[in-house]
Amino acid sequence: MTHLAIVVAAGRGSRAGTGRAKQYMPLAGRAIIAHSLASFARHPGIDLVLPVIHPDDAALFAECTAGIAGILDPVVGGATRQESVRRGLEAAASLGVEIVLIHDAARPFVTTGLIDRAIAAATAHGAAVPVIPLVDSLVMVVDDERRGSVDRETVRAVQTPQAFRYDAILAAHRAATDENFTDDGAVAAHAGLTVATFSGEAGNMKITTAEDFARADAAIAAQLGDIRIGNGFDVHAFGPGDHIMLAGVRVPHEQGLVGHSDADVGLHALTDAILGAIAHGDIGSHFPPSDPQWKGAASHIFLREAARLVAERGGVIAHLDLTIMGEAPKVGPWRDAMREAIAGIVGIPVSRVGVKATTTERLGFTGRREGLAAQATATVRMPFGNDVP
Ligand code: MG
Repeated sequence: MTHLAIVVAAGRGSRAGTGRAKQYMPLAGRAIIAHSLASFARHPGIDLVLPVIHPDDAALFAECTAGIAGILDPVVGGATRQESVRRGLEAAASLGVEIVLIHDAARPFVTTGLIDRAIAAATAHGAAVPVIPLVDSLVMVVDDERRGSVDRETVRAVQTPQAFRYDAILAAHRAATDENFTDDGAVAAHAGLTVATFSGEAGNMKITTAEDFARADAAIAAQLGDIRIGNGFDVHAFGPGDHIMLAGVRVPHEQGLVGHSDADVGLHALTDAILGAIAHGDIGSHFPPSDPQWKGAASHIFLREAARLVAERGGVIAHLDLTIMGEAPKVGPWRDAMREAIAGIVGIPVSRVGVKATTTERLGFTGRREGLAAQATATVRMPFGNDVP
């Protein structure tokens, strides 16, 4: 039974002054949409994750979600949320989906338990939405005037992920193209389906206003309070060649670097630093030099996998710092290109990547120009209680 999660991110509501749609704004160094997608991608009950994005956001999407494995290529959404969801559903027509969860990217705090309940409710009822009780008393207001009370026992606030049998919700969306509903439960009800409810979560907030951002920042800071520091070190010898791969950038040089892969000491040190921070082996245990598939491999594969392992555990990479040691080539002219390459591979902002260089005063093997060394530090923020053996 195939379970699909559609994550809707096609809206353009931008945070004042940034010009960037809110779902691409960072929380704890990682885009809101990346938090949302990763929650579904790592859930064992979800087989496929399909993002729906605005056509102008393709490059931003790729930048913000690099390092999240297991998500399908994004589908371009429409002018309304409802149209975007329908396009996502249509795009999944050949995937054999039985249960679909539809989630707003602007709710980054969706939990494993909430996803479990959504799948169970859709399996049992065919259509179900998460709701939470309202704690404040409710009143009707017209022209700023109180016009009467609403019994709060009869109403609930509705959230996402909403969950459905795929065929039923696709048919409901096709039958509602002249309407403009703001949630899929309303689309299902319009088609005559009975929509069950299940428990949402107060923490599953939708980020809309600047105040929401502040609350979300505080919430995620508390959630990702398990701060880990890892370090990595690597050496490769110079050999014949006319360029080296260094920190993800092709740098012309009168020699090459010798190694089983592309011998990028910078990316290797960073990969080990991240693996160290999550106490999960080292580059050699994940990518054994004895395995011919890594011969000549581009080292961004190793670094991206380390970033994926962090995301899989619900963590974020807060900062990376790299020091390259050698007499030549000069790193300064390439520094920003290296920072951008590293940031792009792991999917964090460039402002969270430092690249530095030093000579060793002509001492030792680097001083004798026999090779290059690199040392890296990774700061990783993990959720508490996420200890994996
Ligand atoms: Mg190496």
